Amino acid sequence: MEDKIRIGVSTCLLGQQVRFDGGHKHDRYLTNTLGEYLDFVPVCPEVEAGFPVPRETFRLVGDPENPRLVTSRSHIEHTDRMLGWAKKRVRELEKENLCGFIFKSDSPSSGLMRVKVYNPKGMAGDTGSGPEHEPRRFSLPAQAAHAFPWLGQRRSHGQTISMCA
Ligand code: SF4
Repeated sequence: MEDKIRIGVSTCLLGQQVRFDGGHKHDRYLTNTLGEYLDFVPVCPEVEAGFPVPRETFRLVGDPENPRLVTSRSHIEHTDRMLGWAKKRVRELEKENLCGFIFKSDSPSSGLMRVKVYNPKGMAGDTGSGPEHEPRRFSLPAQAAHAFPWLGQRRSHGQTISMCA
C-alpha cells in the first residue's frame, strides 16, 4: 500500500528485544493489522539514551506532579540524561512527517499517563501523569506533546496509549 501513515511507536511493541530483561512486548494487532496502513518509526528511550540490554529497571520517584527517573535498585537518578535525549530525539522526529505516536503504557520512560510514582520509602503511591496531568516533563511523550501540540491523547487497545490527530 502506498502512502502509509507514519507513526512513532515504542520499539518493544514492534517485537524488538529492547526491554530491561532482553524481552519485548510485541503487539500483533499493531504489526499485523494496523501495520497494513501504518509505517512505524520505532523509538526506545532507554536504549537510545544509552542504557544496555539487559539493564536495571527504572521507576518514577518523588512528587507525582514532577517525578524523577531513578533506577529501582541502585537509586541512581537519570532524569536529566533522559530529558536531554528526549529533546534531541524529538527534533529528529519532527522531520519524520509523523501523524501520531503509540507509546507503551505503564513504562516510566515511555508511558504517556498513569505511570506509578514511588515515594522515598519505596511505596507506590499516586499515579502521576494521569489523564488530568501533563506527561512527565523529562519523558519523550512530554517532549512530543510539546513539539506536536495538535496531537490529542487517548488510551486504546489495552496496553498502549496513543497520541493522534
Ligand atoms: S517501554 Fe519504552 S523504554 Fe521500555 S523497552 Fe519499550 S520502548 Fe524501550
